[in-house]
Amino acid sequence: MNYDSKQITVLYAEDEEEAREGFAKTLERYTKEQYIANDGEEAIELYEKYHPDIVITDINMPKKNGIELAEEILEINPEQIIMFTTAHTESRYTLRALEMQVEAYLIKPINKNKFKEKLNHTTKNIISNRENAKNQKIIQAILDSQSSILVLTDFFNIEFASKSFLKLFNVSCKEEFFFKYENFIEIFKDMPGCIFEITKDNFMESYNSKEETMVCLSETKKIYQINIDEINIDKSILYAISLVDVTILHNQRKKALFESFHDNLTSSYNRLMFDKLLDKEYLRFVRHQRPLCLAIFDIDHFKVINDTHGHLTGDRILMALADFFHKNIRDIDIFARWGGEEFVLLMGETQIDEAQKVCEKLICGVENMETNNLPNITISAGVTEIDKDDSRDDFFQRADNALYDAKRSGRNQVVVNNKYEVRF
Ligand code: GH3
Ligand code: MG
Ligand code: MG
Repeated sequence: MNYDSKQITVLYAEDEEEAREGFAKTLERYTKEQYIANDGEEAIELYEKYHPDIVITDINMPKKNGIELAEEILEINPEQIIMFTTAHTESRYTLRALEMQVEAYLIKPINKNKFKEKLNHTTKNIISNRENAKNQKIIQAILDSQSSILVLTDFFNIEFASKSFLKLFNVSCKEEFFFKYENFIEIFKDMPGCIFEITKDNFMESYNSKEETMVCLSETKKIYQINIDEINIDKSILYAISLVDVTILHNQRKKALFESFHDNLTSSYNRLMFDKLLDKEYLRFVRHQRPLCLAIFDIDHFKVINDTHGHLTGDRILMALADFFHKNIRDIDIFARWGGEEFVLLMGETQIDEAQKVCEKLICGVENMETNNLPNITISAGVTEIDKDDSRDDFFQRADNALYDAKRSGRNQVVVNNKYEVRF
């Protein structure tokens, strides 16, 4: 880094001609630009015009003294570097000047070597501050130029935040953010489905354990894809967090997932989902041998209903029937539209007698169902309980055979078909 004071600009105010001309020469030698004022008023005009790096001012001056000048300048820029020059060690202004804690007090006549030493030191500070400010601006510009929302944080404080991050929380700066939130991690505090207290460690643990990470922010109710990178800086760790709004994509995916496992007419599970769930229940049975029953239901003479009242009415009946089932089965039972006008019901932890009663209740309920001007319908059912020697298909086939028997025996009834029962 080049810390040469020849990069520095100076405003110098001095009413005594001899002192002014002498020191101006020194400044000319060591600094880049010098703005010379004969009194305080001239000095403030030059200050406003050039905004120099350093202001060097005599204290005792006509029109506006050095203290008044310094006060006015500090109001414009509280960070302004100011040096006082004075010959009056005991002047009435000295105490006030000392209280202002400015960069330096130079006693007149100014010792050039001492001044040069001070100027070198001050230059170093100015150049590093300038460099820091420039770097901060670069980082900020990089963050702001990205399409994702970015924040650099240790999960408590925020080091840098993109404008889009601040906008998300409806604040204009980091300070305003911390009026709303005690620390950064709080933005995740209302994540739906989150069962643990959100701390940095368990947040990172959860983040690292998932392949795909979506978060919901307390403030926005939107879904974000989150990416976190650890950055080690001088033995401390910062996290570069990026958030991309994926609410639309997430909802589309949720909808597509729902549609792939549900029948679009009745919103019941479809055959694909039922097959998956039946596989799972079958494996559970193989392992634990817990009772499991399957019932298949079919609308009686549905073709006639379609032919008589039209397919749209037929569709409405299917919807009403599925709705009836949803309302009248237990939450733990698995109900699906198997296809056409056939529905299946898988009842875990249920033995055949109880399953038969469930079917009878449903068949009776459908017969008396309130259907808002729709034609009345009846349904038939076949039901069976799984046996330890059954394959998955044996189990299903037996229920299907029972349904066939129910149809053959006059419909609007349930037929039980258990493995070791004699069938007629
Ligand atoms: P059974 O008592 O023997 O079951 O007689 P069925 O008329 O109900 O049986 P069949 O298998 O002959 O006819 C089934 C009918 O169900 C024919 C078909 O058009 C109708 N169906 C299947 N899916 C739908 C659907 O999504 N909407 C409507 N409206 N009708 C459907
Ligand atoms: Mg039918
Ligand atoms: Mg059928």
